[in-house]
Amino acid sequence: MKALRLEATGRLAVCETGKPVPGPGDVLVKVEACGICGTDRHLYHGEFPARPPVILGHEFTGIVEAVGADVTGFRPGMRITGDPNISCGRCPECQRGRVNLCRNLEAIGIHRDGGFADYVCIPETQAFALPDALDPLHGAFCEPLACCIHGIDMAEIKTGYSVVVLGGGVIGLLAVQLARLAGATRVVLVTRNADKRRIAEELGATATVDPSSGDVIERITGASGLLPGGADVVIECAGVAQTVEETPRLAKKGGTALILGVMPQGTKVAIEPFDLLFREIRLLSSFVNPFTHARAADLIATGAIKVEPLITRKIGLEEARETIINPAPNGEIRALVIPGL
Ligand code: NAP
Ligand code: ZN
Repeated sequence: MKALRLEATGRLAVCETGKPVPGPGDVLVKVEACGICGTDRHLYHGEFPARPPVILGHEFTGIVEAVGADVTGFRPGMRITGDPNISCGRCPECQRGRVNLCRNLEAIGIHRDGGFADYVCIPETQAFALPDALDPLHGAFCEPLACCIHGIDMAEIKTGYSVVVLGGGVIGLLAVQLARLAGATRVVLVTRNADKRRIAEELGATATVDPSSGDVIERITGASGLLPGGADVVIECAGVAQTVEETPRLAKKGGTALILGVMPQGTKVAIEPFDLLFREIRLLSSFVNPFTHARAADLIATGAIKVEPLITRKIGLEEARETIINPAPNGEIRALVIPGL
């Protein structure tokens, strides 16, 4: 089969390799689609620890081709989405239910072979069924959606709440939809790109703000702003210093500031503890997808979360290589890799 393999930091190649053979507890999946995520670029540049040589791709969906002897929940022909994060179940963090913080966390597409390939082989525990009738590409959004669900759960959005989302990538556009589903009546999305602002409004944002055309804090929290006094919940989905600093400042007194975006290790930002304390801001951060993948699969399967507008390009493995080694093109939301293309 053909696969896109990280051979070493800075060395990514389309290669011919053996089709994986499922072990007793594994399912072999013919990949229909696999999203390219910012993490793939970090892996290529060595900014995120990987274990090369390894086939990248952790946002995959496909059809079960074969199952191991011990597999009971899946049979050939079923469509599945894969949860890439495998926790050990034995370490102190796993033992207290914090599986996303597992000391031995391993991810498919990072530490073991992933979905930028004709086939991917995964433990049955990481597979979640999707309906036969679903658009074959939509399952590729379950993984980023599952990460957003964990964040939205932590933020505890209630009916009638106001929410600000910073950043209009996949994560931001999924967070907007989840906030509305959770009952938020006002959801403001902040992002520079006009197409992303338009898509956000189609997907449920009640207002959008272009941060390049004036002070975001004043235009949202000011007396004549969109949410005078600030929002109940602010969700940072850009992963840049400016938006991280804006996150608590956009929250109202007693409000919640949630960091979902990832910044390079070692980066420091300016946050004013006095402001956090005297306005009693709840500052939270959320990491990956503990126990949320099944909910993500159901939200996609039922169409409750819309993902079609998030697909910017459908590309093959060669083009995926170029896409990962270069910065994301302006306006790109998600490029989906279709291995046979
Ligand atoms: P992305 O496509 O890069 O989206 C980030 C968005 O932020 C871009 O669309 C960019 O769009 C916008 N942005 C940049 N500067 C901005 C500013 N000053 N103000 C407002 N918006 C700004 O990435 P993604 O896939 O959506 O992921 C978002 C972040 O979440 C990343 O850092 C990713 O690593 C992280 N993430 C975290 C988890 C987790 O478990 N916590 C899981 C998955 C991803 P414009 O150019 O339009 O502004
Ligand atoms: Zn563990």
